[in-house]
Amino acid sequence: MTHEHFELTLVDRRWVTPRVLELTFVRADGQVFPYVPGQFLTLHLDTPDGEIRRSYSIASLEGERDRIVIAVTRVDGGRATEILNRLERSSRVRTSGPFGRFVLREDDGMDYILAATGTGVSPYRAMLGLLEKRLATSRCEIRLLLGVRNPEELLYGEDFLALARREPRFRFEACLSRSLSDPPASHERRGYVQEVLKQLPLDPARHIVYLCGNPDMIDASLNHLKGLGFALPSIRREKYLSSN
Ligand SMILES: Cc1cc2nc3c(=O)[nH]c(=O)nc-3n(C[C@H](O)[C@H](O)[C@H](O)COP(=O)(O)OP(=O)(O)OC[C@H]3O[C@@H](n4cnc5c(N)ncnc54)[C@H](O)[C@@H]3O)c2cc1C
Repeated sequence: MTHEHFELTLVDRRWVTPRVLELTFVRADGQVFPYVPGQFLTLHLDTPDGEIRRSYSIASLEGERDRIVIAVTRVDGGRATEILNRLERSSRVRTSGPFGRFVLREDDGMDYILAATGTGVSPYRAMLGLLEKRLATSRCEIRLLLGVRNPEELLYGEDFLALARREPRFRFEACLSRSLSDPPASHERRGYVQEVLKQLPLDPARHIVYLCGNPDMIDASLNHLKGLGFALPSIRREKYLSSN
């Protein structure tokens, strides 16, 4: 899919966790933005030192495809963070996209592990409709691990828990590095995503693993998976690195 340059208009903003701001846009030209769930877009933001470009995964649900939702982690001192935190409704932002190959593919007979830290869960939220269809049309099992610090930071947790309630072959686990609920909820695990991943019975002949978000989590998980004999095409990665 080729990418386009266009403007987005902000139509809604809300804090979805104490550190994550969700921004909802529509295209200023009224067109629908074609993308594949799992892809990201790039915002072109003006600063006193010129334009900076920052990428954000699309988090929109399937039914809201005329709306482009992104979830932005508050990075202290971050230049894009500061601009986006101040963005008011009706503001316009130059944008390009869609980009990326972190998308669901046809992997007949395989089960999926989807792992993320923080806003790295956005691509999986965009994939929710596809995941539900995949579960309905195959025997596959899907296990989603989301790493955050505490239960308040569980971004889009309700969306994933709702699917887990409807579909027994979908499991959602919150990997909490600082504190659990009191008493702990059944979907809560203590520790970092990469630590919980190490406790799973993973099999290169059976699993495809998606990793998204913090580069350290991705590197640690990648090393572990390679040690288990996973080939690189079975380990799909999207690292949230800062650019220029
Ligand atoms: C493909 C892709 C998709 C992405 N999707 C998302 C997304 O959906 N949501 C999202 O919030 N971000 C996402 N990012 C990261 C995003 O593009 C920015 O890097 C992030 O918002 C920080 O930009 P900034 O200008 O505010 O910080 P900068 O001014 O670039 O950085 C300020 C300081 O903070 C450090 N820093 C940067 N990012 C982080 C971080 N996450 N945690 C801690 N310290 C940090 C930097 O090293 C630097 O020291 C994605 C990145 C990529 C490459």
